[in-house]
Amino acid sequence: MKKLCLGIESTAHTFSVGILDFDGEVYSLINDIFMPEEGGLHPALVREQHLNNFMKIVNRALSVAKISVKNINLIAFSQSPGLGPVLKIGAWVARMLSQVLVIPIVGVNHCIAHIEIGRLKCSIEDPLTLYVSGGNTIVSAFESERYQIFGETLDLPIGNMIDSFARDAGLQHPGGPKIEKLALESKKYIPLPYLVKGMDLSFSGLYTSAKKLLVSTDFNKKYNLNDTAYSLQETAFAMLTEVTERALAHTEKKEVLLTGGVAANKRLQQMVEYISKEHNARFEVVPLKYAGDNGVMIGWTGILRYKAEGGHEIAETIIKPKERMDQITVPWRSEN
Ligand code: AMP
Ligand code: MG
Repeated sequence: MKKLCLGIESTAHTFSVGILDFDGEVYSLINDIFMPEEGGLHPALVREQHLNNFMKIVNRALSVAKISVKNINLIAFSQSPGLGPVLKIGAWVARMLSQVLVIPIVGVNHCIAHIEIGRLKCSIEDPLTLYVSGGNTIVSAFESERYQIFGETLDLPIGNMIDSFARDAGLQHPGGPKIEKLALESKKYIPLPYLVKGMDLSFSGLYTSAKKLLVSTDFNKKYNLNDTAYSLQETAFAMLTEVTERALAHTEKKEVLLTGGVAANKRLQQMVEYISKEHNARFEVVPLKYAGDNGVMIGWTGILRYKAEGGHEIAETIIKPKERMDQITVPWRSEN
């Protein structure tokens, strides 16, 4: 039997367990996603849901994979970055499994895992990556032993910004797919703040202005919600595309990877594909099952690190809620 890794994702809304072998073949992936009834993600509520459900998710992943927990050879978990109370649940479950089973444990940076699963699933080598999700907005590429950050949001993550606007417009979480649908019904662009500072992005002014449009006396007279959704998307996605294109011109990478939950958006895919073609780069979107937060990407990145430098000591498995991907070396990759 091939060596198996059990990967645990627990940085935010999703508690997920993936089981895969050391060659990257996936045996199971089970997700449990916290859905707020109102407002955003309250860490204490998310933590409670994960605490209540983790054993069910682990057991289901084992039963779908048709294996016993005794067949697992390695435990990987999301160690950084994320919500502290929520990261702790995954770290705790991982430490418990590793110690009970007497097998190695590896902590993984969640943002690096989004890139590594893309490299595996899209069969690409060395992409420039645009990672856009509820909690992150990062343009990065491998250079000088690390995944360097070329651009990032200075305030709101893109997914969170769209979800907040959708909530203000009376739409239920998650708002991203609903805003995409409404935007398809309009071609009327209302000018909104476009803020790119150097290589970084700021979405808070855009969010505030779009929100104001909803309560203006012109709303449903001169323009409607479809026009507002369209304008919000066009502005935010053009900002993301501008920064991605500049990073592409600078790094001269030959592949572009779009990942994270917002990668599902067809308009964003279209824009990033366009600039990729302009620069003769291959464009790939991570398959949606693996684009959002998932335990398989954590497991796969854990396998890569374990193969390169072994497991972590228990004392090294402390969670790091603020750790950036560019603080960590990636010994499994070499300079091209
Ligand atoms: P993640 O944080 O990676 O799990 O992704 C969740 C985020 O992706 C949420 O903010 C969703 O609103 C967003 N999202 C999902 N589908 C779409 C879509 N079609 N367009 C825009 N955002 C989306
Ligand atoms: Mg994520």
